[in-house]
Amino acid sequence: MPADSIRLNTRVAAISGKTVELESGETISAEAVVVATEGPEANRLTGLEPALGSRSVFCLYFSAPEPPYLEPMLTLNGGGHGIINNLCVPSQIQPSYAPENRALVSVSVLGGAHRDMRTMETVVRDQLKRWYGLVVTEWKLLHIYRIAHALPALTSVEWQLPNQIQPGLYVCGDHRGTPSIQGAMESGRLAAEDVLAARSPAAPAAAAVPPSATDN
Ligand SMILES: Cc1cc2nc3c(=O)[nH]c(=O)nc-3n(C[C@H](O)[C@H](O)[C@H](O)COP(=O)(O)OP(=O)(O)OC[C@H]3O[C@@H](n4cnc5c(N)ncnc54)[C@H](O)[C@@H]3O)c2cc1C
Repeated sequence: MPADSIRLNTRVAAISGKTVELESGETISAEAVVVATEGPEANRLTGLEPALGSRSVFCLYFSAPEPPYLEPMLTLNGGGHGIINNLCVPSQIQPSYAPENRALVSVSVLGGAHRDMRTMETVVRDQLKRWYGLVVTEWKLLHIYRIAHALPALTSVEWQLPNQIQPGLYVCGDHRGTPSIQGAMESGRLAAEDVLAARSPAAPAAAAVPPSATDN
């Protein structure tokens, strides 16, 4: 591919037919446009009616003098008490993820949209202290992210929306199939197959894989 085929950090402001308008005002026309954003943004860009809501998540990252445990594992809140859903130490897999001579601790909290960042940190720290003790007071908060559209709020495992919404305009992502990385990749593959099929009208389109057959 030519070096300038992929543009990073370039937001699309609007789509009209098969023409994309970037936030810079530049327009790009193409044979096919594939929209691979989160569901609400795909709806805004294409004029689709919202089909699913979204589930939000808070991600808190701490720098710790020592990792709370040495194993490269995901800790799930099996007790059901407190707001932390899961925790991991990514620097136990890749040390360069953490500041030098520190451990990177990642904490996920599902929902909690009504809480502000400061309250979220306080409540999470209280729970971490119950799990790991006062050493947590030495953990430095690096950043809190609130991801509004972390996952589509799916209610049926049979959910699968078509990728082509009009000639030359396609939408893909976890919101068109199953809410997961696997579902997003499958949706992207199905969209690519639709694009290829449209370019070669004589070739039969590949059969769609039922989501339940490949769900995680
Ligand atoms: C904290 C967290 C943990 C998760 N853990 C797991 C897990 O363990 N396993 C799993 O299977 N799934 C997990 N998921 C879900 C998984 O990440 C998603 O299902 C998947 O990333 C969806 O992929 P996608 O390509 O549909 O959309 P996204 O990954 O959301 O990509 C959409 C992209 O579109 C870009 N974009 C948006 N608007 C515009 C615009 N106007 N112009 C240009 N670009 C735009 C965004 O910047 C983004 O890069 C997790 C999600 C979160 C938030």
